[in-house]
Amino acid sequence: MAPEPDERLPLLSLDAAALEARVVALGGRPFHARIVREGVLQRGVLDYAELTSLPAALRERLAATTPILGGEEVERRTAPDGATKLLIAFAGKPGAEAARDLVETVHIPPRDPTSGKGATLCVSTQVGCPVGCPFCASGLAGLVRNLEAWEILEQFLRGRALGALSRAVVMGIGEPLLNLAALETALTVVRDDLGLGARRITVSTVGFPERLRRAARARPRFQLAISLHSPDQEQRDELVPAMAGVPVEDVLDAGDDWFEQTGREVTYEVVLLHGVNDTERHAERLAARLRGRRCTVNLIPYNPVGETPYRRPPRAAVDAFQARLAEAGVVATVRWSRGVESDAACGQLRISRT
Ligand code: SF4
Repeated sequence: MAPEPDERLPLLSLDAAALEARVVALGGRPFHARIVREGVLQRGVLDYAELTSLPAALRERLAATTPILGGEEVERRTAPDGATKLLIAFAGKPGAEAARDLVETVHIPPRDPTSGKGATLCVSTQVGCPVGCPFCASGLAGLVRNLEAWEILEQFLRGRALGALSRAVVMGIGEPLLNLAALETALTVVRDDLGLGARRITVSTVGFPERLRRAARARPRFQLAISLHSPDQEQRDELVPAMAGVPVEDVLDAGDDWFEQTGREVTYEVVLLHGVNDTERHAERLAARLRGRRCTVNLIPYNPVGETPYRRPPRAAVDAFQARLAEAGVVATVRWSRGVESDAACGQLRISRT
């Protein structure tokens, strides 16, 4: 019998060829590897015991050496509106301060359960975040590390287990453009095996211009959202510290370039902070920046986080902001975050556990 590989490796870290080699080393046949991949990635199997077409001994060896899920769910909270936040622990890097690294994934069912649509999944790309937005719990503690591709993919598998997915938004913890190679690797599997294509995945970034231009030329597998937060240079520098000194106009030009290269419109996101960037004058200046560009705006009334002084604007302020944009010919939608009751909208769970 072939010797057992002694290194314990998560299944999702193995590509098709590596899995086949491992299955053969564990005493299986090459076609057994295809059964495993198809079962896990396409049918959502999360327990080898369900793969009954595999020999029992192989199932046991795989379970002992090649866990389907490499992380551990340490907490789950479901809000009254049905949004479920998972707090997932992955092993910390050897020598790192923390023995485990925590990330969040949020599963948001459709508002209308009879719509026939699946849920939206919000995934993270980093442990912590280096951008440091002062209104965001994830940015308060800085960056710990990038997630591996398999750790990003595992969030999709865990989310799908809570209910079928129609969309994914890469808007959880972290700045996706700073971990783009791993994200692209994960999204390739998400597209090919989980069936979520580029039109149904939105990646949200603070918009590093040069990285965006490169990504636009690399046949991206996603729609783009850029977190702008303010039309004013000085205020954006404060609200998005990692972008301080990067001209707002350069970010917008990179967004225009994205449209030219991909044919897909950019969405500009603005987290509305009461008394900070939610005035009608801000709306007018934002409209002036965006007029004539192929884009839409997504307004996100702030979701309060305990550690920051910011507040959610009243509905009237949000409506007035949206109306000002509309008068200037800029289309804007409003996204009231769901799952507020379970802290399921932005970074709080991780902070409360670290
Ligand atoms: S809002 Fe996004 S980019 Fe800013 S600190 Fe939080 S996770 Fe990072």
